[in-house]
Amino acid sequence: MTVDPYRLPRTVTPRHYELAIAPDLDACTFEATAVINVTVHEPVAEVVLNALDLDLRAAVIRDSSGAELHATVTLDEELERAAITFPRPVSAGEATLTIAATGTITDKLHGFYRSTFVDADGEERVIATTQFESTDARRAFPCWDEPEFKATFAIRLLVPDGLTGLSNGAVIDERPVEGGTWVTFDTTMPMSTYLVAFVVGPLVTTDAVDVDGVPLRVACVPGREHLTRFALTIGAHALRFLAGYFDIPYPAGKLDLIALPDFAFGAMENLGCVTFRETALLVDEDHASRVELERVADVVSHEIAHMWFGDLVTMKWWNGIWLNEAFATFMEVTTVDSFRPEWDRWVSFSTERGVAMVTDALAATRPVEYEVVGPDDAEGMFDVLTYQKGGAVLRMLETYLGAERFRAGIRRYLDRHRYGNTETTDLWDAIEEASGEPVRSIMDSWIFQGGYPVLTAEGGDGGVALSQHRFRYLPDEGDRDVRWQVPVLLRPAGTGPDGGGRPGEGGRPGEGGGPLRTLLTAATATVPVPPGPVVVNAGGWGFFRTRYSSGLFAQLIAEYDRLLAVERYNLVSDTWAMVLAGQAPLAEFLDLAGLLGTELDPSVWDAALDGVSVLYREVPDAQRPALSGWVRDLIGPVFAGLGWEPAPGESDRTAKLRGTLLGALGTWGDDRSVQARARGLHEVALAQPGAVAPDLLTAIVTILAWSGGEAEYAQFWDRIRNASTPQEEVRYLFRLATFPNWALLRRTLEATGTEIRTQNGSFVIAAGLANRAAGRQAWSWLIEHWDDTLRRIPANSHGRMLEGLVRLTDPGSVREVPAFLESHPVPNARKQVAQLLERQRVNAAFAERERGALAARFGG
Ligand SMILES: [Zn+2]
Repeated sequence: MTVDPYRLPRTVTPRHYELAIAPDLDACTFEATAVINVTVHEPVAEVVLNALDLDLRAAVIRDSSGAELHATVTLDEELERAAITFPRPVSAGEATLTIAATGTITDKLHGFYRSTFVDADGEERVIATTQFESTDARRAFPCWDEPEFKATFAIRLLVPDGLTGLSNGAVIDERPVEGGTWVTFDTTMPMSTYLVAFVVGPLVTTDAVDVDGVPLRVACVPGREHLTRFALTIGAHALRFLAGYFDIPYPAGKLDLIALPDFAFGAMENLGCVTFRETALLVDEDHASRVELERVADVVSHEIAHMWFGDLVTMKWWNGIWLNEAFATFMEVTTVDSFRPEWDRWVSFSTERGVAMVTDALAATRPVEYEVVGPDDAEGMFDVLTYQKGGAVLRMLETYLGAERFRAGIRRYLDRHRYGNTETTDLWDAIEEASGEPVRSIMDSWIFQGGYPVLTAEGGDGGVALSQHRFRYLPDEGDRDVRWQVPVLLRPAGTGPDGGGRPGEGGRPGEGGGPLRTLLTAATATVPVPPGPVVVNAGGWGFFRTRYSSGLFAQLIAEYDRLLAVERYNLVSDTWAMVLAGQAPLAEFLDLAGLLGTELDPSVWDAALDGVSVLYREVPDAQRPALSGWVRDLIGPVFAGLGWEPAPGESDRTAKLRGTLLGALGTWGDDRSVQARARGLHEVALAQPGAVAPDLLTAIVTILAWSGGEAEYAQFWDRIRNASTPQEEVRYLFRLATFPNWALLRRTLEATGTEIRTQNGSFVIAAGLANRAAGRQAWSWLIEHWDDTLRRIPANSHGRMLEGLVRLTDPGSVREVPAFLESHPVPNARKQVAQLLERQRVNAAFAERERGALAARFGG
């Protein structure tokens, strides 16, 4: 018999857990008693389940014959399992297994862990909370810790006097005892162990908002109640919108959204009891930037979407994590787009997709879905390819099929599998049935192979000739025969963005049918469109790049103002990608940027500034002032048109654009008058909180760090320590590492071991490595403190911590950084490290290759 070390035997399976959890917040220990109703499928003398870092004190089973058997318990730390052995076989049928355990409330941000904060009286307070995904429920109670073992959960918590207890269900009973209260929560629907949650601590909750019968609350530390209003607003919207979209009522009895001072992820979709880091939930609506508000709206919507997609219907095994997250990302944008249509949330998603397209153009990319043997393999799935590429290819499919047919497939899938577990193909099959299109074969080519194509487009007599080949920054012969099934929408650019119909509804252009749909499955195909300018990726949601022939490109540029924002984003982003890959001359990007004088969409500017940031870093020092002059010429007039002061009634997008352009002018543009005015406005903002528009303030803080010294640095720490909102704190904190001064940067890096919470340390270190003046020294500091830092920063953030190394493109770093990481592998981020090192090489190759072109353009 072979034993799969990662899959529990199926001879005994759980149906219902009664959990009693008694935490001791002073001693940081807990007692857990699990009474588990199980089905014994065949007589067995041993039950195997998961347990880790627990002291299992006693186990007893009452089987279907009524016999009560006491067991011996053996722990296998390596397999994270407990074997419970009985003196004789347990009879088949229904049985009840009781296990008592004790454990430690750790500071590791997973399992049952503690989060601390200092209250208004200066006292340190402790919150005990859980984070179980993927496989840390086994650290809190013995269980069948695989997503397929769904069961119902009845949870009781011993809540010390004066504290609040929260869990998945609503409170149904409270029994006072010495020093506290046993609080009983309502039994959950059948669900996976990774969705169980319990929280005990000095938290306050808002009054419940009734959302069509679902009580919705926010919980936070005392003194932050006034920051909960926006989360309640978007939470109520998301609950209603999603119940309508899926045509299935919210699957739990209540919903609590809980803000925690220490949290490794953004948030976690525990059924009815969602936990968040504070910046993702608590916000002052009147004094937050558009980006900060959007972040709260995004994360709240994402987690609520999981209540159906993930919690109600769950992946069979961890290879399905990507679909869980990709779909929640897709629904997050769809929900926020319905919440504030004026935010153009789908347009701003093109920036996030752009980040995925960078990673996915590397040799070190990966297929979205891959085989997952042990849960550790799945940890690598929580990345940009799962969330952003996954969400973007779902958007591509939706656009190609049409929103109605896509949604009909989703409804069919959720309805068919509610309370169950699925494979990815179950979703494609449901959408295929609803749409009649070959969804499974289309999606397999995007999900099971890494990368994406570039489509070259050439005009001719018969229409537009398209051909596909894999796009990579560092081309490889092995890619020659790689193909995708590419859903392509084309429209003549002269017909205007709408083309007379909505994308995905088929038909021919000029006949009132919208864009022309075609599925490119071969290497080449010719699509019959009338001569003239044509948009190959109409609507902009195809997950590919387009390389137009020079003739088509010139025709398209002439129609620039008639393109949709996402189409314009693609034009700029694709051009920059070609330049970075050495497949187009630098001049092509610089010339296109020169045409942005009428551009008012912040996402399109994001695409252009992405290129500008690389140019600024890689241009030789002597030519940097000329480059900054070019940036001022490019952006100055557009910014002047917007002005420093928000105009009454202007759109949120305009406010965001003002911040984006101001930040660029004051940094890469090195605009001294802008920097001076930013310093003056910062003084105003400090003297009169709220006096400076929030979108402007974020850019001002960026500029101050970029051009500031000791005085500003001290000011930043003062704001971090006395911040009035979580957003204000990170606004300063995340820019501490961007002061162009090694002495200040070293102090910042050292603070990641002391004052800066470990949940934020990875962001700060990443910014330090990317520091334009002292990134090299930051790297030396990191390798000197390597073991300590890796121990301190949560394992799931190790990859993020290293992101700044892509900017270390000097010849010494290009040699030394990979060598160090070769001899010091990062087990939690192997794939990410390979990707970052490749991006470092891409940037270094660009600098080497374009030195002459940069000198010709910016040389004196
Ligand atoms: Zn998620």
